This record gives sequence, C-alpha cells and structure tokens, in this order.
Amino acid sequence: MSEGKEIRTKGFLLKSVPYHETSSIATILTEDGFLSFRASGVYKKNSHYLPLFNLMAESYFLLKEGKGDYLLFKEGELLSFPKGNLETLLAYSFLGEITWSSAKGIDGKELYPYLALATKFLKEGKDPLSIVTSYLAICLRLMGYGLTVDHCVLCGKEKGIVGVSFEEGGFICHDEKREGAHYGKTYCQVAYFTFKVDKSTWTGQNLPREDTLLYFKDLTSYYTEQLGKKIEGLSMFFDVLKG
Ligand SMILES: [Zn+2]
Repeated sequence: MSEGKEIRTKGFLLKSVPYHETSSIATILTEDGFLSFRASGVYKKNSHYLPLFNLMAESYFLLKEGKGDYLLFKEGELLSFPKGNLETLLAYSFLGEITWSSAKGIDGKELYPYLALATKFLKEGKDPLSIVTSYLAICLRLMGYGLTVDHCVLCGKEKGIVGVSFEEGGFICHDEKREGAHYGKTYCQVAYFTFKVDKSTWTGQNLPREDTLLYFKDLTSYYTEQLGKKIEGLSMFFDVLKG
C-alpha cells in the first residue's frame, strides 16, 4: 500500500483515545478486522464528527494512509448509533467493551459478523440479555476458551449430563460431583446453546431469563479469570437486568 492511498471502510467504534485536546486515536472493528487510525479535530466544538466517536457507533470512514502505521481520518458518515432503553444501551456498551478487551486474542475478521448480528438483533428489539450472553460465549470460543458441551468433560459420557463446571471446563455428568459446579437442565441447555451457536444459526433467540441471568454472571466471572480483565460497569448492568 503506497502512502496517501485512500480506503473507505465501515466499522464499529470500539475505542477513542483523545490527544492534543481535540484529536483522537480511534479503533474500529471492520469486516477486515481491527483497524486503528488518527483523527484530527474531531473533539472540536461543533464538530459534526463527534457522534462517530462514541462507543459502538457504526460509520463509514474514509481513511488515508499516513507515514506511520496508522491511517488518517478524512471524512465519515454515521450509519447507526446505539439507542433504546437503559438495558439496551448497557448491552451496546457491554458488546463494545468485550470486543475491545478480546481484541488481542481474537481474529477481528472472524468476530465482525457476530458483532454485526448482535447489533442487528438489538436494533430489532430482541432480548439484550440473550444477545450479550451468546456474544460473550462466542468471544470466549473464538479465543479458545470455549467450554466442552458435547459430553462430560471428565469421563466423556454423552448421557446423564447434570451440570456445568467452569473450573473443569465444561459439562459434568451425574457420576461426578464438583464444588462450584452449576446444576440444572435449563442452565445446561443455555450453556450448550451459547457455545454451539454460529453465524448461520444465531437469530437472536430468546433464552430463559432466570437461568440465563445466573449463567451470564458465571460466564462473566469465567471471562475475567481467563483473561485477567475486569469488565467495567458490570454491577450496574446486573442491577438493570435483574429489574
Ligand atoms: Zn462424567
């Protein structure tokens, strides 16, 4: 790619780090993966580019290759912006934060279609909890932290599955007892769904609320343990989800 070459790309804003008071170093997720670029003057008073630099805004960007390994922002067009009730807005921020904190361990090209689907489902008014829970499991799976949900992770048996042990990494059967494991048929079904769903089968399915809430809580702890990263704003999200 020669210097000065222009590219037009569409992406979700994941991070905008201000510098020089009015400029930003932004990272977006596009269908070609993660992309960072420098954007001058976007935080100027009355800048009409400001909405593009909000978490999870989806926009077209016209980028120009600069001298460094980043691209210079030339112009942009806002396509969509997170909106909805508090639960939906918190779901958008959760998607943005998880995508950003997974960026190092994940191929952005593989992840992009799922983020596009998740935001599409939110726009259609589908259940935010079901969407964020599925998306979190998808991120874990794409990073290689997926749980074994085809058989008992300890003995390999496919029958008699009664619970999920995050510590052991998957389903456990009735022959095993593990401290800290979570038992229950519905809970297991939710875990199975979230680790099995893919681009062609994910339609924003509504998952059973009570068990999904429990499972979502466990899955966020598992994520934090595996990645060593705390998810910001999670307690507020739980409060809103619990209603
Ligand atoms: Zn077993």
